[in-house]
Amino acid sequence: MLDIKSFIAERVNLMESSEIREILELTEGKNVISLAGGLPDPKYFPVEELAQISSDVIREYGWKALQYSVTRGVREFRNELVRFMERAGIPGERPYNIIVTSGSQQALSLLSQILINPNDIVIVEKPTYLAAINVFKSVGAKFEGVGIDEHGMKIEELEEKLKEFRREGKKPKVVYTIPTAQNPSGVSMSNERREWLLELAEEYDFLIIEDDPYSHFMFEDHIRFERLRAKDKYRVIYTSTMSKILAPGLRLGWVAAHPDIIDALETAKQNADLHTSTFNQLIAAEALKRGVVDSHIPKVKEAYRAKRDAMLESLEEYMDGVAKWTKPVGGLFVFVYLDENLDTKEMLPMALSEGVAYVPGSAFYIDGSGRNTMRLNFSYPSIEEIREAIKRLSKVVREYTAK
Ligand code: PMP
Repeated sequence: MLDIKSFIAERVNLMESSEIREILELTEGKNVISLAGGLPDPKYFPVEELAQISSDVIREYGWKALQYSVTRGVREFRNELVRFMERAGIPGERPYNIIVTSGSQQALSLLSQILINPNDIVIVEKPTYLAAINVFKSVGAKFEGVGIDEHGMKIEELEEKLKEFRREGKKPKVVYTIPTAQNPSGVSMSNERREWLLELAEEYDFLIIEDDPYSHFMFEDHIRFERLRAKDKYRVIYTSTMSKILAPGLRLGWVAAHPDIIDALETAKQNADLHTSTFNQLIAAEALKRGVVDSHIPKVKEAYRAKRDAMLESLEEYMDGVAKWTKPVGGLFVFVYLDENLDTKEMLPMALSEGVAYVPGSAFYIDGSGRNTMRLNFSYPSIEEIREAIKRLSKVVREYTAK
């Protein structure tokens, strides 16, 4: 019998598919309210504006929009990104500091390829973004995890680890962080800790990957977090995405980094896909130029703020005493902690049969810990669904705890 699997390369064993995707598949078509995804609310996609822009782009740019384009990204889009970053509090970028990617997921994938040799040490938050773990794992990275609290990554703990590595003669290469409205926890790194992290990068000679998809959705206007990239244009590799501020289906992300990093990324991207869709880049460039993105963000922010409030209120109402949870000041997620001895993966089938889905938190921990945690998304479900889902979840937690 032909064994097709025997033809598949060994490196595939290092790749892991996202557990979230598998869970989402389980819930499809069923009467399950999913708090498992991380999808934007499609109600707010600027469909009319994008219909107009798409038509204008095809007429105005014609052949150019449909043609191959340079690997780094269409100049018009990169110029607009420089301006957009400046408006967002990251001045001083140049088009040659920027490469456009197919979502920031590709940015992470390409960064892992150009930075990480097998056994290089990558330091991540515990918990961190699942797909980043998978990407770094696939190139043979060794992980070290640093815990978080309500002020983000515990930099004191990071410093201890760095000292230990130095004593052992080891040198971590990269700290990967989602400093603002982190996925999955929803917490943000305080400005003091950001300063401290940058100092440690100097002292211990490592690079920082600042993954920043959620900064535009900060719900408390008095809180302003400095971007790491705004403070350090050498050690900080910044990536962000149009996925949450415009539409994820366009698959547009970007990296702002030192030109040497951009050059290496360009080579890797050329191998991967030649370039990101020319048409989509021109659409996004126009959306930025016409102010569609800038006017879209506050509407979405308002909507997500109301949903966050609904989720926190419902948790307060139904889960008080049986769980603890983060109080995100931005982003898309709340992270819930049950009693230490409980296992949210084991509880998931019960939740699905009660009609509610979440992501078991252990998926976000490099060492399989966090078994008592779960990630809840509030951007996609409606406020009514959020209330109903938390009610259902509290029943599940209470029944599971009593078992
Ligand atoms: N990084 C983080 C922290 C994310 O949460 C996501 C999307 N959920 C991504 C990267 C990838 O997003 P995209 O590829 O859509 O830009």
